[in-house]
Amino acid sequence: MATINEALIRDVVQEVLGRLGGATPTAQTSPPPAQTGSAQTTPASSSRPAPGTAPCATPLRSRSAPAARRGTFGVFQDADEACEAAQEAFVQLAERGVAGRNKVIELVKNLCYVNAKEWARIELEETKIGRLDHKIEKLQAQRNVPGVEFLNPYGLSGDHGITLEEYAPFGVIGAVTPSTHSIPTMACNIISMVAAGNAVVFNAHPGAYKCAVMAARVFNEAIYRELGIENLACIIEPPTLESFNAIAKNEHVKILCVTGGPGVVAAAMKSGKRAICAGPGNPPVLVDGTSCLDHAAKCIVFGASYDNNLLCIGEKEVFVLEPFFDQLMAGLEKHGAYRLNPGQVERLTKQAFTFPSGQGAGCAHAVVNRNLVGKDPDVLGRVAGVNVPAGTQLLVAETPPDHPFVMEEQMMPFLPIVRVKSVEEGIELAKRAERGYKHSAMIHSHDVAHMTAMAKALDTTLFVKNGSCLAGLGNGGEGYLNFSIATTTGEGICNPRTFTRVRRCVMVDKLRIF
Ligand code: NAD
Repeated sequence: MATINEALIRDVVQEVLGRLGGATPTAQTSPPPAQTGSAQTTPASSSRPAPGTAPCATPLRSRSAPAARRGTFGVFQDADEACEAAQEAFVQLAERGVAGRNKVIELVKNLCYVNAKEWARIELEETKIGRLDHKIEKLQAQRNVPGVEFLNPYGLSGDHGITLEEYAPFGVIGAVTPSTHSIPTMACNIISMVAAGNAVVFNAHPGAYKCAVMAARVFNEAIYRELGIENLACIIEPPTLESFNAIAKNEHVKILCVTGGPGVVAAAMKSGKRAICAGPGNPPVLVDGTSCLDHAAKCIVFGASYDNNLLCIGEKEVFVLEPFFDQLMAGLEKHGAYRLNPGQVERLTKQAFTFPSGQGAGCAHAVVNRNLVGKDPDVLGRVAGVNVPAGTQLLVAETPPDHPFVMEEQMMPFLPIVRVKSVEEGIELAKRAERGYKHSAMIHSHDVAHMTAMAKALDTTLFVKNGSCLAGLGNGGEGYLNFSIATTTGEGICNPRTFTRVRRCVMVDKLRIF
């Protein structure tokens, strides 16, 4: 149930009264009451910089900064208005210095952490895809998204003086987020973009925007309380293709960052603006039998069942050398997978895909039935005609290599397992299934030559050896987290540097101190 944040309302009313010279606000001039949902906000702290941050020259919450104009806390119906407000917020953020950026990051991470259970539930209720436990983890994991510390300037010193290359902000970024992780993608985008000094305007997925609007409002309320900046992370309510086009065209928007499937990637590329595109994938796994098969099975079940296989990096099809097929299958079942028989696979396939005629060159192209995307294994089991045991994490079955479940990014907790005769055949089929997205791939092997051959052939952005896909994002492997992996345009796993312009500052002949 929604609760009203009284301290915040008091703050805002005081602010408005101050601006009106003490006059009683009217309905037209006073901001609407803050809708905080049942979200918890962090306690208001002093304007002291966070531990480890540099003291800033201007107070974090500058009284001279332009006052919050619209009282919407980042939520806008009009895309152009949002872009303008974000531009003002960008200027205000620059005034608050590095300490201001650090404060925003601290707030966003804390809010995701303390509200993880509630926000995960809200997102799941709206989207009806994925798993609550993993949605909670995806919000708590925002702590692993890097911040300002990632922006180490590059320095040169020589006979002709010194040069510094710095990572400067763009200004306002237009961002599109997916239905598969709406709040987590928005949160890590805000952390990376603000760490680099930018403001952002989001167009969320129409099926996952209410939760994003709720979270954006809470983020902006907290930022406003601490720093006096109201619209640093704006969002359009409701998002439409028109609002996307308006954001893309707006003069304040310097670059786009889109996270989603082929449609939005194509739209962003056509926009005329530079676009950072975190596009689709269909990650294959190769198991060559040289490593522990039980470990491989455990990793595969963990990765492919995560959030019901909604992750773009998630294991989507497995190629295993023939002699090890039975042992791998037994391992998958041991670790929580349920094996479907051929009749059950056929029933599931008929419901999971449609084959509209008229697409493709004489050969119908499979289209994923979105009603089954991200559903629980027991739901898919019932569609297949079987009641799977409680606690089943994943469905598995043997399929041929050209099966739609192998070739399409289906985002369901059903994993096709394909027997192959050789490592060469496995690599060739994995490359075909990955379809040139250059997204992610996994291998379970102790043979360095096999690892190298697969890495070279698939040329993916993420390549994980002997771990689950999540190891590629720091969960079980080394590395930082982001839910936007810029595969299509090549920036890789997004981080603060992704959202910067490199500027060089040259001092000729002087300032070298030796
Ligand atoms: P989707 O492509 O349906 O939607 C993604 C976003 O793009 C949504 O906000 C949607 O409204 C918008 N969109 C779609 N077509 C558009 C168009 N023509 N113009 C403007 N906006 C448009 O994808 P989804 O189901 O929300 O998410 C799943 C897809 O996203 C999968 O393909 C997955 O691999 C990909 N994904 C990639 C990454 C990554 O980091 N590379 C991360 C998450 C998801």
